[in-house]
Amino acid sequence: MPTIQRRTAVTVDVGGVRVGSQAPVVVQSMTNTDTADAESTIQQIAALARAGSELVRITVNNDDAAKAVPYIVEGIRAKGWNTPIIGDFHYNGHILLRKYPDCARALSKYRINPGNVSIGRKDDDNFRTMVETAVEYQKPVRIGVNWGSLDQALLTRMLDENSRSAKPLEARDVMMEAMVVSALDNAAAAERYGLRRDQIILSAKVSHVRDLIDVYTELAKRCDYALHLGLTEAGMGMKGVVASTAGLSPLLLAGVGDTIRVSLTPTPGGDRSEEVRCAQQILQSLSIRSFMPQVTSCPGCGRTTSTYFQELAERIQNYLVESMPEWKKQYPGVEELKLAVMGCIVNGPGESKHANIGISLPGTFEEPKAPVYMDGKLFTTLKGDHIVEEFQVILDEYVEKRYGRQVVEV
Ligand code: SF4
Repeated sequence: MPTIQRRTAVTVDVGGVRVGSQAPVVVQSMTNTDTADAESTIQQIAALARAGSELVRITVNNDDAAKAVPYIVEGIRAKGWNTPIIGDFHYNGHILLRKYPDCARALSKYRINPGNVSIGRKDDDNFRTMVETAVEYQKPVRIGVNWGSLDQALLTRMLDENSRSAKPLEARDVMMEAMVVSALDNAAAAERYGLRRDQIILSAKVSHVRDLIDVYTELAKRCDYALHLGLTEAGMGMKGVVASTAGLSPLLLAGVGDTIRVSLTPTPGGDRSEEVRCAQQILQSLSIRSFMPQVTSCPGCGRTTSTYFQELAERIQNYLVESMPEWKKQYPGVEELKLAVMGCIVNGPGESKHANIGISLPGTFEEPKAPVYMDGKLFTTLKGDHIVEEFQVILDEYVEKRYGRQVVEV
């Protein structure tokens, strides 16, 4: 597989996690609990961290949220997670960070939205206050431009200039340019106010895939700041997953993006960690990073008329998800494992042979037996009512043998 040439980006230390081209692409996520409810927020951060989120962002929107931040950080550390916690500020970050120094100290990074920190002002004193707080506590910041809250004064000025130009651009193109200019101008201001380049991450989020690709391609060309990549308001379920994948993949393949977030709208009561698994799957599908053993399973067809094959593929997938938190600790490299669960004899044996371990189930009218392949060779053939359980035992033994730490006897 040819290696992806990462765009050169300054590397930023975010509470011990490195973000930049000298580090792997980092997966991050954001809570949706009320930050003032410290206990619920701690629980959700722990769930996101367990799912593999390497950075977690929380909303800091009012006094109660800012007061809760030190307890949340302490609580998550008490649970054994070192995950850096990032504060997401809009409108009043300059007030909260000054009023609650313990909050400013506890956070590992501040997200500043330049489009709403200085609303109604002609100066950028609020932005400057946030940056100076970051300098005082030596915290990096993300300057996060979002098209839903783009600096209106800047956009109006650029639209006016465009309308007077001999060759005016489309309004959409002016908007994209305004996002890039807003991010770069604010980053330059942050440097003037004392931040170093290796303390600044930029993002320019939009909610349409083509806009995302265009705006980040331009931003990537014009600076070497680390970039946080994500489609904002990606949406629910399949739409959000597909749109995020479609938007992030061309950029990641072009080496653009140092940390990613997939902004899925969860179903009511749904699992927030889905956004972490989706981000990981995007990176793993592109062979950028490995997080989880991958299961190749065929789609099934008229040769697999029962649901047996789907159930087996699902049970094995769930077994991997459940086993991974322990496996990761015990078996370094297990995330590279490749499994195949195939529906019949047509492609089953061939695909299984390409995996570390594969099972080819009997299709309709085929003899009721399931050959298991290990490292390309037929290992055994399973029969009867306990094929899944027996396959899991074989899988466990394989993982132990291949990835278990070798104990050297003296
Ligand atoms: S492997 Fe068999 S069951 Fe699966 S899609 Fe191909 S022909 Fe159909």
